[in-house]
Amino acid sequence: MRQGLLVILSGPSGVGKGVLRRKLMKDKELNLAFSVSMTTRPKRPKEQNGKDYFFVTKEEFGRKLKEDGFIEWVEYCDNYYGTPKSFVEENIKAGRNVLLEIDVDGAERVMKKYRGMYTLAIFLMPPSMEELERRIRLRGSESEDEINNRIQKSKEEMEKRSQYDVSLTNYTVNKTALRFKQCVQNRIRYCEQVEKGEKTDPTYIIKRP
Ligand code: 5GP
Repeated sequence: MRQGLLVILSGPSGVGKGVLRRKLMKDKELNLAFSVSMTTRPKRPKEQNGKDYFFVTKEEFGRKLKEDGFIEWVEYCDNYYGTPKSFVEENIKAGRNVLLEIDVDGAERVMKKYRGMYTLAIFLMPPSMEELERRIRLRGSESEDEINNRIQKSKEEMEKRSQYDVSLTNYTVNKTALRFKQCVQNRIRYCEQVEKGEKTDPTYIIKRP
């Protein structure tokens, strides 16, 4: 059986990764398994434990870290976030495409660790900084300090978008989901051609940092 893809979805806070992910997960043709991260950040009103995140204490997070249970983890705006290792590795082996919704630092680490054609890294851009700020404020879950912190961080993050295979501007979720799907399907086709010996182009390996 062909192994699944590791699909990284990254981009600044508030850009719409969560909305896009919820739409993509409904598309059965994409055969996606969403990797639910662990976080020490407080739950937002609409979020569900075990579905959006595993909300844990700093102690629980620390224990998982000690067990070497993450493929990557970060401290982001005073909270910890980590990608559980067993879920990702088991699903990829089982042929499912695993979706990681993670920040730029985490994405960089995953791209280094899982180099090659089975990893597809997609960066989501906001239409403008004004629109990004509007979307963060609309969420209404962060204090003024946290909002400013996230906006500052987003500028640094956007500077790194050239490290990704694809950068998509998120004008509307429907259009972005369609383009996202095309990227996944193109990559799957590419992997199949390499597996059959029809292509040997190592572009995807060379490009990575
Ligand atoms: P938020 O607090 O807005 O849900 O997430 C803050 C940032 O952390 C977002 O960019 C989100 O994608 C990222 N993030 C969520 N889970 C993980 C994770 O497991 N690892 C990393 N590196 N970033 C994560």
